[in-house]
Amino acid sequence: MPAPAAAPAADRELVVDGLSVRFGGVAALSEVSLSVEPGSVHALIGPNGAGKSTCLNVLTGVYRAAAGSVRYAGVELTGLRPHRIAALGVGRTFQNLALSPTATVADNLLLGRHRLTRAGFLGAGLRIPRARREQSEQDSRVREIAGLLELAEVLDRPVAALPYGDRKRVELARALCAEPTLLLLDEPVAGMNADESARLTAVIARVRAELGISILLVEHDMTFVMGLADTVTVLDFGKRIACGTPEQVQRDPEVIRAYLGGAP
Ligand code: ADP
Ligand code: MG
Repeated sequence: MPAPAAAPAADRELVVDGLSVRFGGVAALSEVSLSVEPGSVHALIGPNGAGKSTCLNVLTGVYRAAAGSVRYAGVELTGLRPHRIAALGVGRTFQNLALSPTATVADNLLLGRHRLTRAGFLGAGLRIPRARREQSEQDSRVREIAGLLELAEVLDRPVAALPYGDRKRVELARALCAEPTLLLLDEPVAGMNADESARLTAVIARVRAELGISILLVEHDMTFVMGLADTVTVLDFGKRIACGTPEQVQRDPEVIRAYLGGAP
């Protein structure tokens, strides 16, 4: 099920160049550079406080860069408001769940498609034919995405009734409902048990394979990203200390020191 493309796949590269962010006297990011190749999974890892979430928050227009640039598909993102960045195909989930707990999974996913609906909810309420046709298109895309994320069986259940691992997949499904071409994930397996985490890892791999989108995921647990990422960037105290394949960064002495506190 191909997603509508905002730009030809080959042009959809994310290029972060010399990005710096400060909070008062704290340099949360210092001249960080990385690029996410179209269709790849790129992991941004590092100990707590390394600046990973700050980086995602700049990419989505929530935090302002003190210096540097972020370009996606050739468009400069720094200075753009979050909704403009989302409209360029950059989607995200949040570290803390942000779903409507009493609404069903299906309704939460439909909310995720709001950006793409033309006739809107007023038209749907008036039952004009175009709105009705659009509604059935939206419903069928929601079912496709739910199937991809192993949520087909729980579409009619309220989110609050689901176990944590399922709710995290709903969050991911909702982000995908906006048809992003680049998906940003902040610690997607945080708080999950081993089974839930393995299931989500498989789901993320399938999303990338079937939708062909780029994924930039933040994680502090290095082992989780090893089987999933094509490229890994490692941050420590706001600086990039390594970048390469999972195998390369895993045996980088600087990375080992950052994670183990000195012991090589
Ligand atoms: P990570 O996600 O890698 O754990 P963060 O990006 O959340 O790290 O934080 C990096 C640094 O920036 C930390 O020192 C943190 O305290 C600081 N920081 C992050 N967000 C804010 C904020 N909104 N206000 C002040 N300091 C912040
Ligand atoms: Mg974080």
